[in-house]
Amino acid sequence: MVTTLPVPEESTLPTAPAPNAAQGPPVLHTEALVKRYLLGEVEVMALRGVDFRVNRGEFVAIMGPSGSGKSTLLHLLGGLDRPSSGEVILAGERLSTLSDDALSQVRRRRIGFIFQAFNLLPTLTAGENVLLPILIDGRDAAPYQEKLTALLGMVGMAERQHHKPDQLSGGQQQRIAIARALITEPEIVLADEPTGNLDSKSGSNVLAMLRRICDQMQATIVMVTHDPRAASFADRVVFLKDGQIVDQCPNQRDDQDLVRIAQRLAMLESD
Ligand code: ADP
Ligand code: MG
Repeated sequence: MVTTLPVPEESTLPTAPAPNAAQGPPVLHTEALVKRYLLGEVEVMALRGVDFRVNRGEFVAIMGPSGSGKSTLLHLLGGLDRPSSGEVILAGERLSTLSDDALSQVRRRRIGFIFQAFNLLPTLTAGENVLLPILIDGRDAAPYQEKLTALLGMVGMAERQHHKPDQLSGGQQQRIAIARALITEPEIVLADEPTGNLDSKSGSNVLAMLRRICDQMQATIVMVTHDPRAASFADRVVFLKDGQIVDQCPNQRDDQDLVRIAQRLAMLESD
């Protein structure tokens, strides 16, 4: 369907600021981020100098063809891996200056992660899974009971607190994973293809939930996706190709967003 759409000139892309793009210093930004992988003798340049920023309260989607470096960028943003060169700066703090222990503390306390495969622990209940980031951090979960109840209510899972993951649907598991990502009140939430394992109805629910979390809790979200429909829920879409940012477009929150994003992705995939 996508490839049969007429291809617009690049200049027809809207350039107005995103509605939720708060001014001021970014929550997270990068400077000339480079990531090289060695595959035997062969060097793969996964990122070639990426300057990316996300403002407080903004919901940004990162899109691009398969292999364009989306997951690599998200991993570096979250301190799950270190760049070959360049910098990731979280609220003014340069992650390269941190020891491995300090970096893992940043990951545990200041960043919320949502993965395609949910990554819930099967032996724990839904509620225990939400509290896991607190427990892993060696903290007492008791003071978080109220917060747990509020988050489970917010993701529509209040009745499922004592269920195990295998008693929940995929969409329900992802909602628990969203609550887990928020329990520490992180400065930023990073999501890698959060709807990739869901049917379209559950996927829409999860996306609407992320949108609400951004609007009502002023959460900052960066989401990697190759699905134009998912990206249409964001304030702004950043397009990657061959490890570089090649375009950005603010969504207008109208029914043309999806078409614009799909057309841009189709152009990148056919280049
Ligand atoms: P995307 O998420 O956009 O599909 P990735 O970030 O996973 O892209 O990968 C970008 C490039 O880096 C691809 O060419 C991929 O093969 C390569 N790559 C990713 N991870 C590794 C790794 N651990 N070792 C070697 N090459 C990798
Ligand atoms: Mg990926």
